[in-house]
Amino acid sequence: MRVVTTVADMRRARQETAGPPGRIGLVPTMGALHEGHLSLVRHARAADDTVVVSIFVNPTQFGPGEDYARYPRDPDRDLALLRDLSTDIVFMPPVEEVYPQGFDTYVLVEKLAQVLEGAQRPGHFRGVATVVAKLFNVVQPHRAYFGQKDAQQLVVIRRLARDLDLPVEVVGLPTVREPDGLAMSSRNAYLSAEERRAAVVLYRSLEAAQELWRSGVRDAALIRRRITDVLAAEPLARVDYVSVADAETLEELETVERPALVSLAVRIGGTRLIDNLALA
Ligand code: AMP
Repeated sequence: MRVVTTVADMRRARQETAGPPGRIGLVPTMGALHEGHLSLVRHARAADDTVVVSIFVNPTQFGPGEDYARYPRDPDRDLALLRDLSTDIVFMPPVEEVYPQGFDTYVLVEKLAQVLEGAQRPGHFRGVATVVAKLFNVVQPHRAYFGQKDAQQLVVIRRLARDLDLPVEVVGLPTVREPDGLAMSSRNAYLSAEERRAAVVLYRSLEAAQELWRSGVRDAALIRRRITDVLAAEPLARVDYVSVADAETLEELETVERPALVSLAVRIGGTRLIDNLALA
């Protein structure tokens, strides 16, 4: 496994490890790896000849007052996990390598980035789209793997790749959950034991939504209300948003007649968690 920290070394490593016709898979991450990340790496390992994992806590996708400074970082553990999965190249650049002095160019996905997470976290997807576009340019992968856990991010990146004709196949993979249903997230490490127990309410509320939908309910307002009611029963939970939206346009639905994305953001104590479920 090669660990590289500069754009020049990343390009060189790519040339040396993956001559044509080798297929290159990229898994972008912010580190503090868990089974969710590792499932993406395993998929890449099975599908591609060369597996590149990037570890970069991207400052431009964090708003002022968010958790950039205290975001969990554990590079040694991450590297050991990636070595165990036979990763070929790990790209872990310092911030100055990605955003050198004078950096002044950003990628804006417009409408899709303004709703849901984008409405709550202005500038978030500008940071995500910019760093992902840069990673695609530097690594030049054939495929890039993203988790359904960050469903809006996946929709935004698919749009980005399509709109800018980036020659990358964007692959979305299912959310990996803890045994009680909590979606794995690096931010779960912030939770106290009591908050951790409370956090399962996100998944419970999504299950309740799915049950309603399976019983034939198509009224999106009723589904939102059911989710809000389940969340309201947990005293430690404070709702940021509950959404039932078109899975592609992310526009809020009145009736669930097309594939829908049920998504929510909830604060448990000081920790903001997101989760989602597809209804199709
Ligand atoms: P992050 O390090 O949080 O930026 O996540 C890196 C990638 O891992 C993103 O594509 C995420 O959607 C994905 N990911 C994070 N958590 C999970 C999970 N529980 N299951 C599947 N993928 C995940």
